[in-house]
This record gives sequence, structure tokens and C-alpha cells, in this order.
Amino acid sequence: MARIAVVGAGMGGLAFACAMRASQHEVTVYEQANELAELGAGISLWANGTRLFEEMGIASRMAACSCETEAVFFRNEDGSVAATQLLARNNWYRNKYGYPYYGAFRTDLQTALLDAIGKEKIRLNKQLIQLDNAENEATLYWADGTSDTADLVVGADGIKSVVRSAVSDSARAVFTGNSAFRGLAKTADLNLLPEPNSFTDWMGDGQHVLNFPVGKDFEYQTIVVFMDGPETWQHESWRVPAEPSAIRDKFTGWHPAVGQLLAQVNLRERWGMFQVSPMSSWYRGRAVLIGDAAHGMMPHHGQGAISSFEDAITLAHIMNNASLATFDEKLACYQRERKSRGERIQLSSRRVNDCLHLPPGPEREQRNAVLNNLEQHYSWLHCYAPGV
Ligand SMILES: Cc1cc2nc3c(=O)[nH]c(=O)nc-3n(C[C@H](O)[C@H](O)[C@H](O)COP(=O)(O)OP(=O)(O)OC[C@H]3O[C@@H](n4cnc5c(N)ncnc54)[C@H](O)[C@@H]3O)c2cc1C
Repeated sequence: MARIAVVGAGMGGLAFACAMRASQHEVTVYEQANELAELGAGISLWANGTRLFEEMGIASRMAACSCETEAVFFRNEDGSVAATQLLARNNWYRNKYGYPYYGAFRTDLQTALLDAIGKEKIRLNKQLIQLDNAENEATLYWADGTSDTADLVVGADGIKSVVRSAVSDSARAVFTGNSAFRGLAKTADLNLLPEPNSFTDWMGDGQHVLNFPVGKDFEYQTIVVFMDGPETWQHESWRVPAEPSAIRDKFTGWHPAVGQLLAQVNLRERWGMFQVSPMSSWYRGRAVLIGDAAHGMMPHHGQGAISSFEDAITLAHIMNNASLATFDEKLACYQRERKSRGERIQLSSRRVNDCLHLPPGPEREQRNAVLNNLEQHYSWLHCYAPGV
């Protein structure tokens, strides 16, 4: 039996603990926050995530509190349709990938994960400040002055990971040159939306607005405004104040539904968008990275949390696989299974940003041809299942 310390009770850490709930190994999750309150309203959950829900013990819970979005619409500034992709309409997505797409509240997902694990496995108020990563054992030093030892440390501590500094000497969170504003609104208050039960990207030059339904019966819309800029990010914080009228002015002349969406977004708070720089290895000694700590990415594929689930389930399978005897064998196997896929999604998410922000011109035609054929270009994202 191994003692496994998971640092971070976010999406990846909770998913790993869920997947290990029947394991012979002893798993403890350490979280810096003094309570688990999920930030951010909605989350899109594609088939490569929902196919893992049964194993994570949250399938029926998530089915009961999510909506199955009908389609994806890509629209130009004036609302004209540039491309479409069916989802639940005609049962297209389930037929294609075998599992549903869900629009859900992050808080529902977090609660389902916590209930599956059992709260006693989670230790709050434990902020990791240093990790001694020795050959046969790791020591975790907490901000409260205490320490713990473990046979394996799983770094699920997000994009600004502390565990990562024990795995890589150079990797860090790098500002992407993009920022976002977020909102949540009742669908009933957005009467100008042409397709309220669908996922819509309103695309323009250097910016786009996204809305998608979340929760049972499509009751709410998650709204995110994405913009190129600022060029640099000088702040320690993720979030900085912004001037709402300056943001609104950038959408003058757009379809009236966009004005209605913007009225529901907190335009006073700009979120910087970061991604993690590449690493030669995702593990060293007795520390291994999952989720944003390993491959923090732009959110344009809606794959950040889901790819942390893929990491978590893969690592859990490997930890429970008795034919891989040593930690070195196990962690090498995890890296083989996950690193190239994580990096591929990260790179692709970056490219999608540029593609959604094209200025008017012939490149938009080529882009729309790709968006009209998402199945051909992006099935690799949705049909993946952890192989080990
Ligand atoms: C605008 C936006 C929209 C998004 N939409 C989607 C979406 O629709 N679908 C999707 O799949 N993904 C989406 N994502 C991405 C997703 O939120 C992240 O990729 C996901 O949360 C990563 O999970 P994680 O467990 O690696 O990190 P996190 O969920 O960030 O969890 C890290 C945890 O570690 C804790 N922690 C940090 N440091 C320490 C420390 N030193 N000691 C102890 N604990 C620590 C934190 O408090 C936190 O609880 C979106 C992201 C953004 C910015």
C-alpha cells in the first residue's frame, strides 16, 4: 500500500481521489482553501469527460443536473451563421461518440465529486509551500508550519503549481496575451438569443463572445467575452479592474443579442489567460503532475477540466496496476499515455483562439469550412478513452 498525497482539491485532484476510492492505496487530498467554493459558473463537458463519469461514481448525479445542448452555432458579428454542428439534436453527438455532451454548473460537478469521495479524505487549510522530493519519499511542508510525508505526491495544484517546481526547473505559467470577462444569466432574461438551447460563438476581429446553456432545463447561460490583449500582464493577481464602457464600445454594431449578453457580464473584472510552458517531463522522483499544473491551457476547446479527468483516471489505473511494480515504471507509463495528448490539446486550444478572432477576409472562409466540419478536424478530442 502506498501513501499518496494529492495537492489541490480542484477538478483533477477530486477526480483522482474519486477514481481511487476503492483502491488499496491510502489517498489524502490537501487543499489550501478553508472551504471548497467553486469559482466560475458553467462548464462544458464533452464525451471524453462524460464517458469517465460512471467510473468516477458521478454519472447519475450529473445526468440529473445538466442539460444536453442541442447544437453549436458559430456566428459573425451581425448574427449571420458562419458554421454549425449538431449535438443533442437528432441524438447526433451520443450516436457519434457514445456519451453525451452536458452543460453543467461547476458547483454541481464539484459537489458530486466530493460526495463520491467522502469529505473525510480532504484536508482543508493546507497550503503547500515547499516539497522535498527525495528518492524514496517526499516531504510536504505546509504554510501552517506542519509537514507530512508521502510515497507519491500528485501535483493537482493548478496553473500556478508549487509541486511543478519540484518537477521542472523552468516551467511556469505564461501570459497568453488574451483576457476574458465572465457572466451568468437566466435564459429567460435573454429573449434576443436566436438559439438559447445551443452553444454559440459570436466571432469578430480580435474578440469573441461565447454563451452556452447550463443546468437542468437550459435554465441559465454561461457567458464569456474573450479579447486579444493586453500585450503584457504585470499583475500578480489573475483578475484586474476594467472600464465597462470601453469594453462595450468594442461591440458596437454587433447583433442585438450580444448587447443583451454583455449587459449580464461583469465587465469590471478582467481575467488574464495563462498557459503552462512546455516541460521535458511531467514527473521527477516521487512527484507527478496532473491537470493545469502539467498543461494549463486556453479554454477554447472546453477541455481543461476534462483533460485533468483523463490524467486522473489514467494515473489511477496505473497506480492500481500491479504489473507495473516500481514508481518509476508507473510514472513513466503515465507520461507515455498522457503527455503528448495534453500538449496537443494545449496547442490546439491556442490555435482556436486565433481562428475565432480573424479579421474579415478570405481566411474567414477557410476557417468556416473547418468549423462546418468539426467532426473531421476534432473527433480526436472527443473519442479518446484512457487506455491503461
Ligand atoms: C474562462 C474559463 C472557462 C473554462 N471553461 C472550461 C470548460 O467549459 N470545460 C473545461 O473542461 N474546462 C474549462 N476551463 C478550464 C478548467 O477550469 C481548468 O482547466 C481546470 O479547473 C483545471 O483543473 P485542475 O484540478 O488542474 O486545477 P484547479 O481546478 O485550478 O484546482 C487547483 C486546486 O489546487 C489548489 N491549490 C493551488 N495551490 C495550492 C497549494 N500551494 N497548496 C494546496 N492547494 C493548492 C487550489 O486552491 C485549487 O483548489 C475553463 C477555464 C477558464 C479560465
